[in-house]
Amino acid sequence: MGMGAQILNGTALAAAHKEQVREEVRALNQKGIFPGLTVVLVGENPASKVYIARKEVTCEEVGIHSQKILLPESASEKEVLDAVQKLNRNPAVHGILVQLPLPKHMNEQTVMQAIDPQKDVDGFQSQNQSQVYAGKGGLVPCTPRGVIQLIHESGVSMEGKHAVVVGRSLIVGKPAAMLLLGEGATVTICHSKTKNLGEMTKQADILVAAVGKPKFITKEMVKPGAVVIDVGITRSPDNKLVGDVDFDSVKDVAGYITPVPGGVGPMTIACLMENTIRACKNQTQSKKNSRKIVVGVIGSTKGTDMQAVIDAIESHSLNAKIGLVCSNVTDAYILERARKHNLPALFLDRKSFPTTEAFDAEMTQKMKDAGVEVILLIGYKRIVHEPLLDAFPLHIWNIHPSLLPAFNGKFDADVHQEVLDAGVKVSGATLHIVTADVDKGPILVQQTIPIVDGETSDSLKQKVQAVEMEVIVSALRQYSEGTLSPFKDQKKNE
Ligand code: NDP
Repeated sequence: MGMGAQILNGTALAAAHKEQVREEVRALNQKGIFPGLTVVLVGENPASKVYIARKEVTCEEVGIHSQKILLPESASEKEVLDAVQKLNRNPAVHGILVQLPLPKHMNEQTVMQAIDPQKDVDGFQSQNQSQVYAGKGGLVPCTPRGVIQLIHESGVSMEGKHAVVVGRSLIVGKPAAMLLLGEGATVTICHSKTKNLGEMTKQADILVAAVGKPKFITKEMVKPGAVVIDVGITRSPDNKLVGDVDFDSVKDVAGYITPVPGGVGPMTIACLMENTIRACKNQTQSKKNSRKIVVGVIGSTKGTDMQAVIDAIESHSLNAKIGLVCSNVTDAYILERARKHNLPALFLDRKSFPTTEAFDAEMTQKMKDAGVEVILLIGYKRIVHEPLLDAFPLHIWNIHPSLLPAFNGKFDADVHQEVLDAGVKVSGATLHIVTADVDKGPILVQQTIPIVDGETSDSLKQKVQAVEMEVIVSALRQYSEGTLSPFKDQKKNE
C-alpha cells in the first residue's frame, strides 16, 4: 500500500453508538424504566478518576443515571464486598462497575466474582467470561467489544483472516482473541514469552495490540494493508496519551489504523453504555411476573390509614403480600388493622431494649425472618435508625403525607390542620426512599392534591388518605414490574 492508512475514527463511531443508546434510553423511560449505572472507586488512582469522570459525562449524555461510590484506599475487602452486595440488591442499579485496579491488599477476582452477573457491565465476572468463551455474547467486556466494532467499521471481513492479538490479559487480550475467533478469524495470541514477535505480527491481516508499552509495534512488524487496532494507553512524561503502536510510521504501512486517543478508548465507553442498557433490559424483563413481593409495614402512629395499605395490596391484584406488621405502640391502629385481617402483627416495646440499636436489630431480624423485602414506614421514621435502613437498602419507603417542603418533619401533630393554617394551596402524598438523612431520600412516587376553599382538616385528611393508597399501589406495581426508579424525581430533592 504505502498510501497511508485509513484512520478508524473511534470518537465518531462511539458518537453514533451513543446516539443509538440515547434512543433506547428514551424508549425505556417511556415505559417508566430508568437505567442506572454505579461505579465503585476504591482509593485515589488519578487515572481511574479520569476514566470515571469520562464515564459519568457519557452517562449524562445518553441519559443513564450514574452514581459513584467512593471508598478510601484503606477500605477493607469486606467493605468493598458489602458495597457491591448492596448494589446487587438495589433494583435501581442495573449496572455495577468496580474500577480496576483495586488496592493491593484486596483480591480483584474475589471482588469481581461478588458482582451479580446480570449487573456486571464490565463482563469480568466468571459467568460472563464463560459466555464469551462459549461464543454466546451477553455482557461482553467493553474494550474487546469496541475492538471488534472498530474492525467492522473498516469493512474488512474477519472471516478466514489471520488475526494476531498481542497481550493475553483476562480483560483485554484473551476476550479479544475469543471474539475474533467467533468472527471466523484464525487467531494467534502473543505475549511476553513469544519468540520472534515481529514475525508473528507481520503475518497479521488484523493486528490487535494490547500490551501497555508505548510505540511498541513498529512499522517493520506490520503487514502492508493490515487492520491495526491499538488498545494500549500509556501516559507519556509530557502527559500525552500514547498507544502501543508507533502511529506515525505504522500508518504508512497499514490499511486501517486506530489513533490514540480517539480510537479504542471512546468505543470502550460507548460499549459500557450499551452493556448497561442490555443489563437494564434483562433485569426489567426477567423481573416481570416473577415472585410475590413480601412487604413489611412499620408504623407508630395511631391514625394512619393502615387500611389503605391492606386494601392496596389485597384489592389491586398486586403481586405482593404483607409479611409482617410491626409497631412500638401497643394499641397502634396498624396493629389493630393487621390483626383484623389476620396478618402477622408484632408489638415491639422500645423500652424493653437497652439501646435503639438493639431495638432496630430485633425489628430487622423479625422482618428478615418474615422474608420481607420491601419496607413501608408509616409515620415512623423519627425512631428508625441506620442499621435498619442499611438492612433494606433502597427498599425502605416512607409515606409522608405532609409532603410539602415547608412542612418537612412536621407531620406528627395534626398536619392537615397545619397545612390549612399555613394557607397552602396543595397537599399530597409521597413515597420516598429513606436514607441516612431521613428527609432527603429520592422521591419514588408522588401525587398532589389541590386544596379547595372551605377545606377542613378532616376533608383534607380523607383526600390525602385516598391519594396515599394510590401512591402505594402505583409504587408496588412499579416495583413488581421492576420499573420503580428512585432516581426519577431526584432533582426535586436536590
Ligand atoms: P496487562 O498488563 O494485563 O497485559 C499486557 C499484556 O501484554 C500481557 O499479556 C503481557 O504478556 C503482554 N506483553 C507485555 N510485554 C510484552 C512484550 N514485550 N512482548 C509481547 N507481549 C508483551 O494489560 P491490559 O491487557 O490490561 O491492557 C493493555 C493495554 O491496554 C494497557 O496499555 C492498558 O492501559 C490499555 N487498555 C486500554 C483500554 C481502553 O479503553 N482503550 C481498556 C483496557 C486497557 P504476559 O502475559 O506474558 O505478561
